[in-house]
Amino acid sequence: MKQVIKEAMGDCSTIGEFRFLLRCQECGRTWHSSPVRFSKAGTEPETEGMRAVFRTLYERERAAAREKAAAEASEIFSRCPVCGRLVCDRCFLICEDLDLCTACAGKLKVRGDIVAGNVSSSQKTHPETPYDDSTEGDD
Ligand SMILES: [Zn+2]
Ligand SMILES: [Zn+2]
Repeated sequence: MKQVIKEAMGDCSTIGEFRFLLRCQECGRTWHSSPVRFSKAGTEPETEGMRAVFRTLYERERAAAREKAAAEASEIFSRCPVCGRLVCDRCFLICEDLDLCTACAGKLKVRGDIVAGNVSSSQKTHPETPYDDSTEGDD
C-alpha cells in the first residue's frame, strides 16, 4: 500500500524543504505532506567537495522525507479494491463486506459509512454563553 502511494505521490520539494502531494482520484482534492526542512537549508557550500556532499545529503533526506510522507498519506488515502484508484477518506466507504470508493459503491449499489464521517465528533465546538446580561431600554 505504501509503495503504491509512494509511486503516486508528486514531488513539490524546494531547495530548502521537502514536500510531497497526492491527489484524490475521485474528488480531486490535493493533499500535501507536512514539510520537512533540509538539514543544510540556507547553508552555502564553500567548496566543490561540499557541494557534492550537500547534493548527496539532499537526495538521502528527500528519500527519507518521501518515506515519511507516504506513511502520512496512508492514513488518509485508501486504494479502492474494485477500481484500483487512490481516494481520500471522504471518498472511501467502510462497507459491511468490502470497503470501496464512493463511485464504485454507487455503481454496485452498496451502502457504507464515509471514513472521514467517523471523526466529525472530534471537531471543536463553540464555547457556550450561559447568561445573556443585556438588560436594556426597560424603564
Ligand atoms: Zn476524495
Ligand atoms: Zn472504486
